[in-house]
Amino acid sequence: MKRLHPRHLKVATRKTPRAINREIVLNLLRSHRAVSRADLARLLGMQRSAAGRIVSDLIERGLVREGATGAADRGRKPTLLHLDSRGRCAVAVDVRLTRTYIVLTDLVGQELTPVRSFATDGEPQKFAAHLVGEIRRLLAEHPDTGRCLGVGIAFPGVVDRSGSVVVRAPALGWRDVRLRDPLAAGLGLPVEMENAAKACALALIWSARGDEPPGDLVFVSVSDGVGVGLVIGGEVLRGRNNTAGEFGHLPLSIDGPRCACGAQGCWEAYVSNLATLSRYVGNSRPPRPPLPADVARVTVEEVIARARRGDVKAVTALLSTARYFGIGLASIVNALDPARIYIGGEITAAWDLIEPTVRDGLAEHVLVSAAETEIVPVAAEEHPRLRGASALVGASVFAGASVA
Ligand SMILES: [Zn+2]
Repeated sequence: MKRLHPRHLKVATRKTPRAINREIVLNLLRSHRAVSRADLARLLGMQRSAAGRIVSDLIERGLVREGATGAADRGRKPTLLHLDSRGRCAVAVDVRLTRTYIVLTDLVGQELTPVRSFATDGEPQKFAAHLVGEIRRLLAEHPDTGRCLGVGIAFPGVVDRSGSVVVRAPALGWRDVRLRDPLAAGLGLPVEMENAAKACALALIWSARGDEPPGDLVFVSVSDGVGVGLVIGGEVLRGRNNTAGEFGHLPLSIDGPRCACGAQGCWEAYVSNLATLSRYVGNSRPPRPPLPADVARVTVEEVIARARRGDVKAVTALLSTARYFGIGLASIVNALDPARIYIGGEITAAWDLIEPTVRDGLAEHVLVSAAETEIVPVAAEEHPRLRGASALVGASVFAGASVA
């Protein structure tokens, strides 16, 4: 479903039909991974010669390559076409309250180096200088990964529509920070920045496989805060100010615990990692940074490990988070009725312990059967936020500027 809007139509008509066809072919190759010329013509509903011309054009531009030969019932085996991500890479950056993670990936999000991290500086200029240094070092140490086409940053806060300004990052205490341009200037590379949950939502589209559109999807990222990215009608929903989907700040109770955003009783204040840890150490209200020593000493991973060893306090803290989490998910289901909800964050390691309680909280508040809503935990080891950051670069290379 493409939403019709006069401005969108104007943007669309700026592209030539050839450019649009190239974009469609690139998207088919991305979602199918490997396709023969004959299958591509069939998927496009085009003559083989016309499809062949688009493919030749894309091979010439270095965006598509010929790979191995595929299977055939009889006759000559067809050569399979792939997106050409060889010799090019992206830097993916996941900014968290306390640490920032970086990795080199190819243009379809596969990690090419081990993930490394450094302490997140609370002061924006220091942070930018530190990040530039770390990225330069990472690239210098891996010259074999090819030309770097850009840096994607998944950021924990509201990023403006242009992706250049951190409008508000409550956990870091940042407001109206111009971050992208100094980074791009310091690195001499294009930089794409987006709210972390929206980047994760983009990665859901970017990694989708097959013919069928995946339907309306939600990505809920639970970490220092709670972010929600929405894929509606095949597009990431942004809203006028790129703040659509801030379910983390929907109040569960108007006199609940104080949230990092300043309001009381936000969903985030009940289910963030900080909320879980506070409950574990016996505080009903999550503290604001700097963290008290008893909260800073433990991590969610440790609480989960202790729960598995039978620590009653740990089990109680996790189940309490699970119940609030389910109640918040019910708001999302009631508002959007998505096909699937993905959950990212450290808490997913306890999914087997908490799922029944999450489901109970959900069932309590949804209007129709909650059992139908598929909930998929994404393991922290899959680094969904880094994948999201990488998709910011990959999507702009294959679906944007270089082919339009
Ligand atoms: Zn809030």
